[in-house]
Amino acid sequence: MADDDDIATGGGSTTAHFVLVPMMAAGHAIPMTDMARLLAEHGAEVSLVTTPANAARMAGFVAGVEEAGLAVRLVEIPFPAADFGLPDGCESVDMLPSIDHFSNFLEACGALRDPLAARLRRLRQRTPVSCVVADTMQWWTGEIARELGVPWLTFNGSSTFASFARYIIYHDNLLEDFTDREEIVTFSGFPTPLELPKGKCPGSRRSPGLDQVIEKINKKQMRSDGRVMNSFQELEDLYIESFEGTTGKKIWAIGPMCLCYRDNNTIAARGNMASADEARCLQWLDSKNPSSVVFVSFGSLATIEPQQLVELGLGLEASKKPFIWVVRAGKNFPEVEEWLADGFEERVKDRGIIIRGWAPQMMILWHQAIGVFVTHCGWNSIIEGICVGVPMITWPQFAEQFLNEKLVVDHLKIGVKIGVKGGIQWGSEQKEVVVTRNDVETTVSMLMNEGEAAQEMRMRAEDLGIMAKRALEEGGSSYNNIRLLIQEMGNKQNAG
Ligand code: UDP
Repeated sequence: MADDDDIATGGGSTTAHFVLVPMMAAGHAIPMTDMARLLAEHGAEVSLVTTPANAARMAGFVAGVEEAGLAVRLVEIPFPAADFGLPDGCESVDMLPSIDHFSNFLEACGALRDPLAARLRRLRQRTPVSCVVADTMQWWTGEIARELGVPWLTFNGSSTFASFARYIIYHDNLLEDFTDREEIVTFSGFPTPLELPKGKCPGSRRSPGLDQVIEKINKKQMRSDGRVMNSFQELEDLYIESFEGTTGKKIWAIGPMCLCYRDNNTIAARGNMASADEARCLQWLDSKNPSSVVFVSFGSLATIEPQQLVELGLGLEASKKPFIWVVRAGKNFPEVEEWLADGFEERVKDRGIIIRGWAPQMMILWHQAIGVFVTHCGWNSIIEGICVGVPMITWPQFAEQFLNEKLVVDHLKIGVKIGVKGGIQWGSEQKEVVVTRNDVETTVSMLMNEGEAAQEMRMRAEDLGIMAKRALEEGGSSYNNIRLLIQEMGNKQNAG
């Protein structure tokens, strides 16, 4: 699989060869593996760049593409962790010992440049490269694309709404003066009215030593030849069009990418780290009524302070609804474990499942028993929730999550805010309780007890779920965009 000449399958005749370079972080790498699958299903050849520890996580993905006979190869490059002061085998953002190591991690990613360029030069002799699609954080890949003389497209794993807002923040320097976190910034040039306190804007709480690298990422991104989005026209038409108009760069909305999975086995293997007993989860969900279960998950990076987790647990208990709760509590996990074991788990055992670590999120969401999704508003989670047509309770923490919350609550109107007041820095934990058990109980009850407002929200969510699926069916907007993307990149290659 790691051999340059090797490919998961013969794949038949292909029309274009895409090199995909994900950021090594679950929330960025997972949609890029989905993208690889989608492009290959539409006849493209795909080289997915990865490192050994990340390749190990892709075993389920690789088995899936092999079984389907798709033209996907992994291009595996050793990761120079030790050269950058990182523990051996630390090859993904979720493996970092602390946020202080993030800038070293990004530098280590940059060191993949020369070995990757060499591999692609070799690979090109057999299969010409048509374009490079890279995570915005892998800014150095632009130089490789230029060297190969092919288009460089970027992917940031976020909504178009948040990406455009981020662009305006950078372009108009909205966070230049940062004395007052409560000060409201107005996004002029945004197609719908948008205002946000500075403290909730992405980039408002930088990790140490990141300023220069973020500046570089932003600058380089301006030079990309276009953007690939994990979204679909019907969901974000206005923002796609307006973002394209402002930047003059094409956007290819080809999502929801998670819909490349169609059965429980492959869905459960997504991310390949599940610590839950999938069969037990499914059996338990099968025993529940449709739309009766609350699913709570905060993605792959957010950690929540023990006292806040206790409040969340007590709120779920008070709501009296069945739930699946994915608990990630970072370094303070023993404290939470002690509390869970000290009566809570026993009290809720008939109606709650607690998953410690990594959950088969897509598999769970996909089940008809799920009625509400409590989410941290990472874009993958939101778009996965949209695909399955469930209303959401939004609990953002950092980065663009507050923008995604705005999209879900104010524009799509398929969710309610739990009421988080301010952002925190990624990698740190909120030091006080910002969401009370009462907040949890009230919002869960509001959505699950099916008053008129909740019913309308559920209907809108279901409609969006139908549109999401249609987008990827034959003739749908994303289906057509994938075809056009492959065609255009293939044509450029033939012309060059
Ligand atoms: N995920 C999962 N199991 C978990 C946590 C996360 O499968 O226990 C997946 C989730 O389905 C999504 C991704 O990991 O595809 C998380 O991405 P998101 O953008 O939601 O949040 P991030 O982790 O980047 O904050």
